Order: sequence, then C-alpha cells, then structure tokens
Amino acid sequence: MYTMNTGYFMDILKLQAYGKINLSLDVLRKREDGYHDVRMIMQTVRLHDTISMMRNSSPGITIETNLPFLPTNEHNLMHKAAKLIMDEFSINDGVKISLKKVIPVSGGMGGGSADAASVLFGMNRMFSLGLSDEELKKRGATIGADVPFCLCHGTALSEGFGEKLGKLPPLPDCHIVLARPGIPVSTRYVYEHLHVSELPPEAHPDIDSAINALCHGDLQELAGCAGNILETVTERENPVITDIKKIMCEHGSFLSLMSGSGPTVFGLFTDSEAADRCYRFFRYGNGRKIARQSYITSPWIQGPIT
Ligand code: ATP
Repeated sequence: MYTMNTGYFMDILKLQAYGKINLSLDVLRKREDGYHDVRMIMQTVRLHDTISMMRNSSPGITIETNLPFLPTNEHNLMHKAAKLIMDEFSINDGVKISLKKVIPVSGGMGGGSADAASVLFGMNRMFSLGLSDEELKKRGATIGADVPFCLCHGTALSEGFGEKLGKLPPLPDCHIVLARPGIPVSTRYVYEHLHVSELPPEAHPDIDSAINALCHGDLQELAGCAGNILETVTERENPVITDIKKIMCEHGSFLSLMSGSGPTVFGLFTDSEAADRCYRFFRYGNGRKIARQSYITSPWIQGPIT
C-alpha cells in the first residue's frame, strides 16, 4: 500500500484488490428469505485490481475506471462502500477513486467485492476512523456476501450466505491458470436455476474432505474431492467450460474447476512449466478462440489487505 500523509488525514492511498477462486463450492439449501446457505472454500489469488483513492475538499464520490462499461455511479460497489462510511461518519470531504480493473468482470472471481473491501479499508485509513477488522467486515456484509472474505484474504471456509468466515490452512504453493470464456453469466441467474433440493446427493462436493486435504497440505487429496455445485447450471448450459477444463487437464492441471458462478475456469498446477504452457495456449495459441481473458497467477498466502 502506498500512502501520502499531509497533517492529520491521509490524502492518497494506493490499494491492491485481490481476486478469489473457490477451491470448492456447495449450496446447502434455499432459505425462506431467498438467500442460499452455502459452504465454500475461498482462496485469494495474486491477480488484482489497483485502486487509487484521493481525498478531496469538495464533497461527493467520483469514480473513474479503465473499463468504459463499468458503472461509475452508485451501482459501482466501490461507491456503495465509500457512501456507507461517509454517511455513517458524517464525512463532508469528498473522495476520488480511480480503478484499474484486471480481474475478469462478472467472472465468478469476486472482483467487485474485492474493490468494495479495499475502499472500506481505505476509507477507514484515510479518515482515521479506527474501525476494527470485525467492524469493517460487518459493514462489508451489507454490501455483498463476499466482501467480508475480501477484507481478510487467504484461505477460508465461508458459510451462511457467505458472511460467516473461518480460517483454513493455506493452499500449498502452486501455479494457477485462469481462463474466462467470452460468455455472459449472471450470478443471480445461476442461483435462480440451481433448484438445489432436486439435485442428487453426489452433486454436492464433499467440503469436509476438501478441508481435511488442506489440513494435510495434500493437493492430490484435494483434487479427489473438490467440486463446484454451480457447474450443474453454468457448465451444463455452456459446454465451453467443459472444453476449458479438459484442455487444462491435458496440459497437466491436477484440478480444474469453475470459480463461483463462472464462467472463469481455474487450473491448479504443481509444475510451473506446464502451467506456463497452458497459459500461453490460452493467451497466444488456439485457446484464444475459447478464452477471452487468460492469466497465470498463484495463491495469496499472507494476511490482510495491503
Ligand atoms: P459475484 O460472483 O460476487 O457475483 P463476479 O466476480 O461474478 O461476482 P463482479 O465482477 O464482482 O462479478 O461484478 C459483476 C457486476 O457488478 C457487474 O454487473 C458490474 O457492472 C457490477 N460492478 C459494480 N461495481 C463493480 C466493480 N468495482 N468491479 C466489477 N464489477 C462491478
């Protein structure tokens, strides 16, 4: 994090907002309030957006971004985060937020939540509010289910509608290839079409076994039990996801799954050269025909936002 201090307040903050993948994702039931009870293993990755925040003496929230199709008004999750804090603490100064977006948008990698988490963190710092991590997480949960996780990073079990978090042993170091096909996927659509009560028991990934595998630091064991129940909607309707998973496995990935509600697919590799070959296939080779965006990254192992 880069900061510039003039007097009591910090004037400028530069933050990195990290994306996530789901090492496993199960949906237990649809609740009466319309939310779903989930059990997900979340893993922060090093792929990140970059956010600059600047304090302004004139009031209001201004957002600029490198992606013209992203909202810059109250529909941007960063705006929601800044406004929530400004309203609660009666902050009269304004803030200008500049976002360099890298994490695939609507890709199942929680990029919007990561950006919102960073802005909450930044507002707390910039205006010296003294909110604890727990207090920030509580506010983050009102913006989005993944925001509390994005405030703490690492490897975690996420339960409830995503707001209950428990720390897990870190994913052993490995290489991660990401490929996002150019198909539109809406998280809302995927959950609405899940019909979880009608799915057979074997559609549910064994989250407890995946946790055990992490406790043993055993990647092969993890590969044997990891899964994402949302593939029953997104992958079934979009065979390109199956194609990408197959290509990743052919390139040596020991585990390839869809992240979140998709459509981004990740592949985990122990061999860096195999991961690089796979990435280059999607980025520069024939894989370009099916992956609109592709990246190579690694798990984020350390602690909270920087
Ligand atoms: P989730 O799985 O949490 O729904 P996602 O990773 O699939 O998220 P995001 O990229 O976080 O998708 O968000 C997608 C939607 O949110 C888009 O409709 C986008 O316009 C809107 N949005 C609002 N703020 C942001 C932001 N800062 N970055 C990306 N998308 C944003």
